Amino acid sequence: MTLMLGVTLTGRDVLLVGGGDVTARRLRRFLAEGALVRVVAPELTAQTAALVDANSIPWRQGRFRPADLRGAWLVHAATGDQRVDRDIAARCDRRRVLCVNAGDGGHGSARLTAQVDTGDITVAVTSAVGADPRRSATVRDAIGDLLANGRLPLRRRRPDGAGRVDLVGGGPGPADLMTVRARRLIAEADVIVADRLGPTAEVLQGLDQEVQVIDVGKRPGSHPVPQDEINRIIVEHAAAGRRVVRLKGGDPFVFGRGGEEMQACLAAGIPVDVVPAPSSAIAVPQAAGIPVTHRGTASAFHVVNGQGTIAASTLDAMADDSVTTVVLMGVAALGGIVDAALRHGIPADRPVAFVESGHTPQQRTTRTTLGRASHDAAAVGLRNPAVIVIGDVARADLLMPTPERIGATQA
Ligand code: SAH
Repeated sequence: MTLMLGVTLTGRDVLLVGGGDVTARRLRRFLAEGALVRVVAPELTAQTAALVDANSIPWRQGRFRPADLRGAWLVHAATGDQRVDRDIAARCDRRRVLCVNAGDGGHGSARLTAQVDTGDITVAVTSAVGADPRRSATVRDAIGDLLANGRLPLRRRRPDGAGRVDLVGGGPGPADLMTVRARRLIAEADVIVADRLGPTAEVLQGLDQEVQVIDVGKRPGSHPVPQDEINRIIVEHAAAGRRVVRLKGGDPFVFGRGGEEMQACLAAGIPVDVVPAPSSAIAVPQAAGIPVTHRGTASAFHVVNGQGTIAASTLDAMADDSVTTVVLMGVAALGGIVDAALRHGIPADRPVAFVESGHTPQQRTTRTTLGRASHDAAAVGLRNPAVIVIGDVARADLLMPTPERIGATQA
């Protein structure tokens, strides 16, 4: 029978008997725990010697002597000789010191578990009867995957008062384009402050009933919550000891006002971190088969917010035919952008693509040119959310020759 104990070895004396590679593996774990390790062995393998050197671990060169047990909280026996290991384990028993007997099927008074630490949770796996380290490791890995993906109910039931905010990028929409870290943080969160765009619905379904979801993307009357109010909400919940995920579409630091939210947290002394994600600036053109850079066609890309005045740098980018211009939030302003570009002398035949609702079932791509862009936008009823791509990469036949061309080549 085994009772699993969570043992803290930090600052405690741990003796490892034997200088082989098993000792080396275990040394790493004990060191990571901050244990005060020492080694007794007539000789060390290269791996163990390297660790002993690198960490200035005390090594008594010689065979095990009972006096070595003095002061130890835990002993790890891996001498390569089962009789010796068993003898050490028996002596430990008499002295009431816990002993991991690595050389004898793990049958000491203690055994090491296969362990995984994800976020602030630790899962340990061992066999109830007999040692089967490979099975334990396989089970551990499977549980580790579930944990890392936020597939297990990780949320703290007894909050530790350590509130924090994570500004989490949700990517362009599909839940499987979210990062593993994003999924885990969502599974750990007490409060989720979400936007309209991004993978909201799919991910927020199936959350624990007690998780508070605050939708700041819309309100009765569909006015979005002002930024100051969002900052106040995330800071207030974190200050009350809750784990807050601020879930955003795309990347938090690309036109996501993540910088301001970070400043608000820092100003309030709230621990804050950012999880990056595919930005719609790149991922939405990609969904339509448009690479924002392409060898020989576009060697740079310029990402702008379509709202507000048109900057000289935007006109310069559009005028440079080796640059792709990617416009976010540009649907309402499209007419103005196009007029300014044409007045600036940018050729009317520069390719343009509109990609609406990229990475969703409603995705629609419209190919046009600068000269026809406004007309075509009205004709198709261009709607938010959309990314506007201006440049040669927006040509329909960039990656794949069109059927007519294939025909022409064949003829
Ligand atoms: N932080 C986000 C951008 C927020 S600004 C990111 O990195 O993606 C919002 C703009 O992003 C929208 O106006 C639109 O231009 C673009 N956008 C976001 N999701 C989109 C989608 N699925 N399809 C098309 N455009 C999208």
